[in-house]
Amino acid sequence: MKFNSLTQTHLENLKAMVAPDRLSTGESVLDLHARDESRHPPCRPEAVIWPQSPTEVSAVLKYANSNGLPVTGWGSGSSLEGNPIPIRKGIVLDFSQMNRILEIREEDFQADVEPGVVYQDLNQKLRHTGLFFPPDPGARATLGGMIANNASGTRTIYYGSTKDYVLKLSVALADGEVIELGTRASKTSSGYDLIRLFVGSEGTLGIVVGATVRLASLPAEFSAAIATFPSMEAAGKAVFEIMRGGLNPAALELLGPRCIDLMNREEGLELTVSPTLFVEFHGATTGQLAEVLELCEEVCKAEGCSHFQPGLGRAERDRIFKARHALGEMIPRNHPDCGIMILDVAVPITTYAALITEIRKELDGTNLNSYYISHAGNGNVHLNILGKKGDQKQWDLIKEISQRLVSKSIELGGTATGEHGIGLGKRKYMAAEHRTSLQWMKRVKSLFDPNGILNPGKIFP
Ligand SMILES: Cc1cc2nc3c(=O)[nH]c(=O)nc-3n(C[C@H](O)[C@H](O)[C@H](O)COP(=O)(O)OP(=O)(O)OC[C@H]3O[C@@H](n4cnc5c(N)ncnc54)[C@H](O)[C@@H]3O)c2cc1C
Repeated sequence: MKFNSLTQTHLENLKAMVAPDRLSTGESVLDLHARDESRHPPCRPEAVIWPQSPTEVSAVLKYANSNGLPVTGWGSGSSLEGNPIPIRKGIVLDFSQMNRILEIREEDFQADVEPGVVYQDLNQKLRHTGLFFPPDPGARATLGGMIANNASGTRTIYYGSTKDYVLKLSVALADGEVIELGTRASKTSSGYDLIRLFVGSEGTLGIVVGATVRLASLPAEFSAAIATFPSMEAAGKAVFEIMRGGLNPAALELLGPRCIDLMNREEGLELTVSPTLFVEFHGATTGQLAEVLELCEEVCKAEGCSHFQPGLGRAERDRIFKARHALGEMIPRNHPDCGIMILDVAVPITTYAALITEIRKELDGTNLNSYYISHAGNGNVHLNILGKKGDQKQWDLIKEISQRLVSKSIELGGTATGEHGIGLGKRKYMAAEHRTSLQWMKRVKSLFDPNGILNPGKIFP
């Protein structure tokens, strides 16, 4: 696809569509929109625009479409696969000034939001209502970015991912037309589900300019537990048994020994340095949750768990999970001389233990440092492999291992990406994972964006 570079005339015309101080070509602004939180190389856009309304987004898109200018949406740039990096330059639409919570309808369990709302801010606003928006990627992500990446997090196993919470969407298409999708009904079987088509499309089919999201009730009571295992395989088996036993955890995370060691040092914990499950349960009463914890302990002990540390109540749950939530930022902070390749594969739960064995086989005998983090209840593995910056030999090895592990996961019936999206890093696996349906995805892309201006270079190999 051939695109045009932005000229002075383009810039003047675009400035006339938004207030002049809401378009910038400043060096530092372009730098800030050149990279996300991944190791993918940065690439600057030519201009950044901060729209304040769907009408402004529509006008910019219409102009960009007829002038061959790429447009990439930007939430808070917290992606981990290069999803918002504007690799074909052009315009970045930064939604930080379209961040109003328009309405909260407590009785309907719904909120209307602009795309730049940060999900933690929505939850803060909801704190007195007994409701919350459950998907929780951890970083300060926006609703627009979460919808575009179909983000999830530690509690997806119980609450589902972003796609399960979008009832209505307003989307500005490449030619500037704004379409409304969905209804406020909590269920529907009417027509094609275009909302699900846009959720997870990484801003390649349209730009989200508004959404109605579903909210959930905050649970009355919480509990959590830490379970220590002699091996990753034993912990993996316990994951399967917890799921099969119908214990219905709200989070089920498996961390490797190196993570535990780091958490002990950084957070002053005194956990045994061994594979460890972090489990969370939500329920109506502490009595009910105490029973579930007992059952969970039985299941874990049957799989060789050497130490089970239960905690009842919200304070205990928060204490147990605090270090887990801080882990994502602890790792890069402790290895400033290294880059990190994050695997994001997900496999069916029955093959989760097989994937663990495969990972061990790949890493044994190498001198690579790695941290095993996993949303285990969803069979979703975030293996963080560390490579010294500038050590090409080490990075070649990491890429080979990562490729083999992704291929193995697809072979096991899984996916190249459980939650981070395709972005730049996972494009090469699209054909293997989607086979004949990849052609249909390409047709869908050309139907909605015939000139290919929306986030070009993403998703397709
Ligand atoms: C420490 C850390 C932990 C993380 N943990 C998780 C996790 O557990 N689970 C998880 O799912 N993710 C996780 N992430 C990844 C990231 O936070 C999510 O993918 C998040 O959804 C990105 O939101 P954002 O607002 O930063 O979007 P961006 O990164 O700015 O953009 C994401 C994508 O959305 C597009 N986009 C942005 N706004 C719009 C719009 N209005 N319309 C259309 N397209 C748009 C962009 O072009 C891009 O393709 C983590 C990231 C970090 C740094």
